[in-house]
Amino acid sequence: MNEEEIIDELMKIKDVGEKTAMSLKNLRFKGPSCFKGLTVDQILVMVKGKKSGLGRVSFEKIIKSVNVDRDHEYTIADDRYKAIKERSFKDMLKLRFFMNHDFKSEEIVSDISFDTRDRYLAICKNMKKIRDENKELKDIDPKRRKECRKLYADKFENDFRLSEFREKYKEDKSQSRKCEYCGISETQIKELIYKEGITTKRLINRGHTMEADRREPNDKYEFGNVAICCYWCNNAKSDEFSVDEFKPIGRVICAIWNMKLKSIHSANLIPTDATSDKFLDEITASAKKYFDLSISPPSKD
Ligand SMILES: [Zn+2]
Repeated sequence: MNEEEIIDELMKIKDVGEKTAMSLKNLRFKGPSCFKGLTVDQILVMVKGKKSGLGRVSFEKIIKSVNVDRDHEYTIADDRYKAIKERSFKDMLKLRFFMNHDFKSEEIVSDISFDTRDRYLAICKNMKKIRDENKELKDIDPKRRKECRKLYADKFENDFRLSEFREKYKEDKSQSRKCEYCGISETQIKELIYKEGITTKRLINRGHTMEADRREPNDKYEFGNVAICCYWCNNAKSDEFSVDEFKPIGRVICAIWNMKLKSIHSANLIPTDATSDKFLDEITASAKKYFDLSISPPSKD
């Protein structure tokens, strides 16, 4: 985001005018989401007690308006739930359509056999066919798409209720939300963002809050199969790795986060047993399981 965009973002906070937004920007805040889930004490530590130039607006007021802007406390969880429901629907629609263009709307909710999955995976290897199929999928009758979406939403909400997701994701202001794979918390992410320990350009729309990942990527979204995790782990695990395969990667990401947290002098490191013998034994066991030690390293010339 450039300077103007940051000012615009900050002015979305109630009672924050241009001058206050400038002061907040100078204190390195980038938008309302930077204040979500934080207490005044945590903010004062981050800004080293500085609060000059805020005018009539206090950090107390900012936190209050950022957190009561919307009418209930599960707005982030609800947005995430809506997004995974839509993504899951689009995946299923694509799968059904690729298998049979004339599928009946009711079929959108029937289980997919391994045979169907295998045929779908075979199609996925043919890039030209995928492009052609995607073009045709765009032209699917909007009425039919709407009917399928409704049927699918009913099934999705029955398999994995919003109340269950809220229980897992916790309320907006929860301080306990952290990544199941690497262990970083949203508070630690905010501290890294604020002190410029994070550089991804995706921060505009991802990273600030935890995401929802399917532990086993080919199984459906249901309580036991959904993990709460950070953008970075979600991105790396993708739909490729199982939880077991990703475990050693998550631990290495954790160690690197802690290095970054140390570099910004954070007093709040991710609890880890990375220096214990047990950790080293487990990493060695993972290495033995996943790395083929018979492959020789590339030659130097
Ligand atoms: Zn993570």
